Amino acid sequence: MQPTPPVVLRSGNVWDAETRTFVSGLDCLAQDGRFAAVGKHLNVPTGAVEIDCAGRFILPGLIDCHVHITSSGEPTEITTGRTEAAPVRAWKAARNAKLTLGAGFTTVRDLGAPEALNIHLARAIDAGLIPGPRILAAGLGVTMTGGHGHGFIAREADGPDEVRKAVREQLRAGAGAIKLFASGGVLTPGVNPRSPSFTEAELTAGVEEAHKALRTAAAHAQSTEGIKNAIRAGVDSIEHGVWLDEEAIALMIQRGTYLVATLTAPGVMADGGVEAGIEPYAVEKSNLVLADHYESFRAAARAGVRLAMGTDQGTPLNRPGENAQEIVRMVENGLSPASAILAATAWAADLLQIEVGRIAEARIADAVVLSADPLHDINALTRTDDIRLVLAGGRIAVRDGLPTEG
Ligand SMILES: [Zn+2]
Repeated sequence: MQPTPPVVLRSGNVWDAETRTFVSGLDCLAQDGRFAAVGKHLNVPTGAVEIDCAGRFILPGLIDCHVHITSSGEPTEITTGRTEAAPVRAWKAARNAKLTLGAGFTTVRDLGAPEALNIHLARAIDAGLIPGPRILAAGLGVTMTGGHGHGFIAREADGPDEVRKAVREQLRAGAGAIKLFASGGVLTPGVNPRSPSFTEAELTAGVEEAHKALRTAAAHAQSTEGIKNAIRAGVDSIEHGVWLDEEAIALMIQRGTYLVATLTAPGVMADGGVEAGIEPYAVEKSNLVLADHYESFRAAARAGVRLAMGTDQGTPLNRPGENAQEIVRMVENGLSPASAILAATAWAADLLQIEVGRIAEARIADAVVLSADPLHDINALTRTDDIRLVLAGGRIAVRDGLPTEG
């Protein structure tokens, strides 16, 4: 890659995570991958690229904490995806990465891919071979024998020792996060989302290995008992959290566990249905969870559970580059636009424990420049026409909707 010149975003309305609003007339200087300064009338280093952001709205780069970026969100993704040739899957993954970055998402956490393709994709992006977001990739998820995700995006393991080994295998392969399955789910045939899967002891072993390696542990957890097992085991985030009860919510608050609700996954399946080509079993199970899932999210948000944005992108009709629809769904389910923005920026960064998510000196210089104010029109985040520029690690990655050359 060419050495990156400093970039100055001039005189924009800059998002401030502390006051939860935009501060007008600020310059942001990105240098050597980080924000070097944020303030009024900054002096510009020689050779800097200056971009006039007057009237524009500058957010930190958006973060999706739950994707399957190597999956494209085709209606029959789960069944046909299993037999797709690896090179075809890899080419699609490269396209998906580009679409995701183009939508303003500069960081994603990928929670499971066949053959750990997510880790290879992360490396290709890091090496500058293809455009894409920073990916914290889990490799394969870890599930019990016959559990959700088996034979596709997860490796089977039984008993604490085997779970430990399975997690270590993902770490050895280069995983940047760990995914454990604490309950059944919607998309694996014959698996009931209401049933718990790993025991608390198995989950505890997996979490210990993740934390020893300074990685976060995410638990797919839909059933109430599975959710509680995962919280007690010390996971950093509950993914989906379909059936939360009062005790689960209290435990999450007590332990500081995040909820990554992925409202989009059942939402788009309910909207599309079998007419869109999704298998009837998946639509049926999705409709079974939808109302309770949304209700659990609202209850958790009201109670003050920590929230981070995640879509489960890659599930049927849940397409790469459409990730921001989750932010809109969060607002539709009771969150203020400012909180939903925080869930996709600062709070998500806190969950993932990386120095992104805020526009502040010394933070990694990821930003999205919008032509509309998302506090007044949250849908602006979903309109690619309104995304004028994406800054990733201090480099202009997307301009006017098009990726720039590395
Ligand atoms: Zn998922």
